Amino acid sequence: MDISKFRKHGHDLVDWMADYLENIRDLPVRSNTQPGNIKKQIPGNPPKDSESFDSIMRDFNAIIIPGMTHWQHPSFHAYFPANSSPPSVLAEMLTATLGAQCMIWQTSPAAAELEEMMMRWLAKMIGLPKSFDGVIQDTASTATLCAILSAREKISGFEINKHGYPFGQHFAIYCSTETHSSIDKAVKIAGLGSDSIRRIKVDKAYAMIPGELDNAIAKDLAEGITPLCVIATLGTTSSTAVDPLKPIGDICAENSIWLHVDAAYAGSALVLPEMRWMIDGIEQVDSFVFNPHKWMLTNFDCSAYFVKSKETLIRTFEIMPEYLKTPEDQRVNNYRDWGVPLGRRFRALKLWFVIRSYGVSGIQKIIKGHINMAQWLKNEIDRETDFEMLAPVPFGLVCFRYHPQGAADEERLDEINHRILETVNATGKIYITHTKLQDRYCLRFSIGQAIVTRDDVEMAWKLIKKTARETNS
Ligand SMILES: *Cc1c(COP(=O)(O)O)cnc(C)c1O
Repeated sequence: MDISKFRKHGHDLVDWMADYLENIRDLPVRSNTQPGNIKKQIPGNPPKDSESFDSIMRDFNAIIIPGMTHWQHPSFHAYFPANSSPPSVLAEMLTATLGAQCMIWQTSPAAAELEEMMMRWLAKMIGLPKSFDGVIQDTASTATLCAILSAREKISGFEINKHGYPFGQHFAIYCSTETHSSIDKAVKIAGLGSDSIRRIKVDKAYAMIPGELDNAIAKDLAEGITPLCVIATLGTTSSTAVDPLKPIGDICAENSIWLHVDAAYAGSALVLPEMRWMIDGIEQVDSFVFNPHKWMLTNFDCSAYFVKSKETLIRTFEIMPEYLKTPEDQRVNNYRDWGVPLGRRFRALKLWFVIRSYGVSGIQKIIKGHINMAQWLKNEIDRETDFEMLAPVPFGLVCFRYHPQGAADEERLDEINHRILETVNATGKIYITHTKLQDRYCLRFSIGQAIVTRDDVEMAWKLIKKTARETNS
């Protein structure tokens, strides 16, 4: 494609993007295509000859769009948000245009230095101590893997990197029963074996019970097993429970155990000073991750990983092949040594665009708005005798179920709520998902879209109420 065509199609595409975002409310939130439907519209063989951009776009509109779930739709209340925003999209266009591999300082000094500064901005925005250094990872899953590997290297004096696991030594990893599946994955990849995970019991609010953690550690020590790492979650995936950081940190400090904090979703709420109670005890934390790509208006992927000791992180991942040595190595951050991949996208740019476009106060206002909408919905649910709340609502997630009088049978309630979920989602008007809490099927309603309003939430709530009462009367 020559530049004159690129210029024309580029302008057209920006128009397409603006139209899409302007009219997104008219689209069904979740694609209702059937499995295999998209595949069968794609030719089995790649085209031998060039096709026009117009014909590619025609197919994009005809084949791809109907097969998309619209994650930026204001009535997307499923999972957690995966925020995007206009300044973030524009920055992504620039990043793609520059097409730079930002693996070391020399391969793009601006990318390395802007990343360092954006991590400092974020640390200040969420109230982390000055002593933390940050790096952008692709996902929280990768950051947690980095934490576990760093903990392993620290405890072994960087010996396991060299010699592998010593024969007969067993390690244990502690997290709550509500922890995200990325911990299981990281433990598998690190070669520790899933058997090394201790799932600590939670209280009624689904937060880890520190006393249970203490007992599990004592039991392992008595059996000659080495406690390696505790993972505390601020905002669990099922119900956004908050593990109590301070007592967990005390236990880790007493036993010299690495403490990693997974705040993938809820970390963004720390921009609000009134939410900082969650990080009381942060001084005892070794590593901390949160995802601006979830709830801070920044496109996927952008996960902010902070560590107390960058030396430990770098020593865990450092590589020094001849072809990557540069004269500045001692004076700059070469982020290839701060995580798994060598090649890196210029992801700091979109953070810079987002934070400057909205300002800290703009980001605070949006997140506060989501929290207020979730409180509003919680109050509405509390007022209805045939609905019940199933978990506290500290952020933007509301977990509840329909529970009509006389329906005491848990199995039947699971069925009823499952049917409500399927019915409301099939309307295409809203999209919610479910989880299980204490083995009870629960509707999970997440509020965190960049453009969601109280009216959107009210419409969804009316639809759920009406559907519940109609399908079960
Ligand atoms: C979303 C989420 C993750 C996974 O995040 P990725 O960036 O997709 O790896 C991990 N932990 C929690 C608590 C989450 O909510």
